Amino acid sequence: MAKILVIEDEESVRENLLDLLTAEEFETVVADNGEIGLNLAIRELPDLILCDMMMPELDGYGVLKALRKQPLTATIPFIFLTAKSAKSDFRQGMDMGADDFLTKPFTRAELLSAIINKIKKYENFRKHFQDQNENYQLSPRMQIINQQLHEDVINNNFQGFTINYQPVVNINNGKIIGAESLLRWRNHELGEVSPSEFIPLAESNGLILNIDNWVLRTVCKQIRNWHDQGLNHLTISVNFSAVEFNQEDLISKVVNLIEIHNLEPSCLEIELTESMIIENVDCAISIMSKLCSLGFNIAIDDFGTGQSSLNYLRLFPANTIKIDRTFVQNVNQDYAKSVIAKNMIKMAQDLHLKIIAEGVETIGELSFLKENKCDAIQGCIFSLGLPRSEFEDLLFSDHTFFV
Ligand SMILES: [Mg+2]
Repeated sequence: MAKILVIEDEESVRENLLDLLTAEEFETVVADNGEIGLNLAIRELPDLILCDMMMPELDGYGVLKALRKQPLTATIPFIFLTAKSAKSDFRQGMDMGADDFLTKPFTRAELLSAIINKIKKYENFRKHFQDQNENYQLSPRMQIINQQLHEDVINNNFQGFTINYQPVVNINNGKIIGAESLLRWRNHELGEVSPSEFIPLAESNGLILNIDNWVLRTVCKQIRNWHDQGLNHLTISVNFSAVEFNQEDLISKVVNLIEIHNLEPSCLEIELTESMIIENVDCAISIMSKLCSLGFNIAIDDFGTGQSSLNYLRLFPANTIKIDRTFVQNVNQDYAKSVIAKNMIKMAQDLHLKIIAEGVETIGELSFLKENKCDAIQGCIFSLGLPRSEFEDLLFSDHTFFV
């Protein structure tokens, strides 16, 4: 039975909540102010917290902030109860790491659906965390990275994190049609840490959820910013982690983000790898279908390197295929690669999917891809991932790459 902590100063609301929760057989712990609530959260480690936003002295924001600072309470699902549904409150709460919002008065069904969703999410998270940590030994460097990563993420200190944008270029006219967002992390003690070091680590210790949330929020904010400056033709892709993709509330979260930034879903492309999809094909297909039907773009990343059968391509609701760099490297000189790449492109075209080649480095590779009618390319022949301002320079100068 899940334990729920209710922090609410208004007696009638509190009593009402307790009646509802008890009737549903949840174990409850109650606090009538923020200070007591915070202490109870630390002592009882509930499975979920329902917390009023407006309270005298320590308010809901203060409670959330304090909880997110402590490793033991940092990941407990936290739902704000609020009397007003102002977008600014919602955004501030979400930025601080709240998991959901309920606007008073809410119905029993709304309350239960929010609670059950978040509790499941927490269970998955803990299970994943335990699985990954069994027999898991870190090298001394990775232990330091782990510790620093924990410190930054748990304290919601994302100052060292940045997003680079790698242009995706139309192969026919050399114009930038979008970008892949790439996460970078510079830690005050370690300096620049490679994503190949910290991302698998964050995936194994669960911190990836907070990181993914930050990435998604930052990218949406950035797209909004570009739209405000008249740049609204770009599709920006975001790499999802397996943990993120398997969250119960994934869809509501991306929809919320799109809504609060007043964006069209089509400006976002969600990159999934074959292995993430293969883990639970039916479930993945249902999430992908939902996302597609809402208007989001879905790209199958690193295509050709996973274990998926080609037959799945027929079933996956996706818009884009990204040919993995291993097939692109030297494609103009390696007969076997050229056959595979040609067929991938042909197949994508026949299935009406957009096809992007990744890791294009040489003129020979570029010519081959152009000849074989690949739609777009990404790679250092044009540009590596760029800091936002440098990417913007290309956009504002309407830069055309030579194809
Ligand atoms: Mg990718």
